Amino acid sequence: MLISIVVPCFNEEEIVRRFHEHVTEELGSLGHPVELVYVDDGSKDGTLAILQEIAKSDHRARYVSFSRNFGKEAAMLAGLRNASGDAVVIMDADLQHPPELVRRMVALHEQGFDQVIARRTRKGDRVTRTLTARAYYRLINRLVDVELVDGVGDFRMLSRRSVDAVLELTEYNRFSKGLFAWVGFSTVTFEYENAVREEGRSKWTFSKLLNYGLDGLISFNDKPLRIALYLGLLLVAVAMAYSTWIVGVALVNGVETPGFVTLLVAVTALAGVQMLMIGVIGEYVGRIYYEVKRRPHFLVKATNVEPAPVAPAHL
Ligand code: UDP
Ligand code: MG
Repeated sequence: MLISIVVPCFNEEEIVRRFHEHVTEELGSLGHPVELVYVDDGSKDGTLAILQEIAKSDHRARYVSFSRNFGKEAAMLAGLRNASGDAVVIMDADLQHPPELVRRMVALHEQGFDQVIARRTRKGDRVTRTLTARAYYRLINRLVDVELVDGVGDFRMLSRRSVDAVLELTEYNRFSKGLFAWVGFSTVTFEYENAVREEGRSKWTFSKLLNYGLDGLISFNDKPLRIALYLGLLLVAVAMAYSTWIVGVALVNGVETPGFVTLLVAVTALAGVQMLMIGVIGEYVGRIYYEVKRRPHFLVKATNVEPAPVAPAHL
């Protein structure tokens, strides 16, 4: 059983060599052959040069280097496409995903599980991030159809057939956490203690997290559109009740001119709701716009994978 390790790397020059040493040392005694698929996501530092050196000295290492930064989702996709293993592990380059856990994953995989997920605790995270994450997952699981779990990320082992299933999903806006959950198959989760990043810094800024959260919400369902519809219906009902009442009052008491405040509140509130709903529709239209363009998810600048990775499918 060949095991592929897919590693997205973006500006990881400080740690990628150590990562490679650590992983190969750890997995040397695994009893299964291992290949490493490094994806350089358009790093601006020396990551690519280091990957090339690693590939030169270790025949198990492959690399694919992007023409620019396309994001971790694209990097993982490239890694999965170029992994030839019977089981594939996706791992961060920053050693936050302990390589020793791969052994456990292999054992569980051999018991017949298609997806072995390592779920991290939130130890060492800022309290604010922990709390927002908790609130977010509570909300999102009400809305989306697949189950998303806090702490479950991309660190997992996939069987060949689940990798193939994920590769069938060719959408441009990729939300891997949801895609993995969507393909299903037998899944098992175990927990591990979160390790704090040793070198370099996290690429997640607050706005990136916010956008990621929105992606999760929007790219997996059309419930926000449904909510817009219900909210619209509710507002129509309120407006009808209110206008019936106000016309009734006008008929009985005659027209009283005061009402400026009511008018202003109604106009601004309704305008706000409308803008919000247009925004929701806009989100979906924007996604359609990107999907119909059928642009490749990434462009490759350099690689040692032979034959060269096929051009992304234009389906
Ligand atoms: N990464 C990537 N492209 C990006 C951002 C990140 O390939 O645009 C890689 C990064 O090199 C690392 C992994 O994705 O291997 C996770 O990134 P990071 O450690 O910054 O995220 P965190 O661990 O804070 O979630
Ligand atoms: Mg990290």
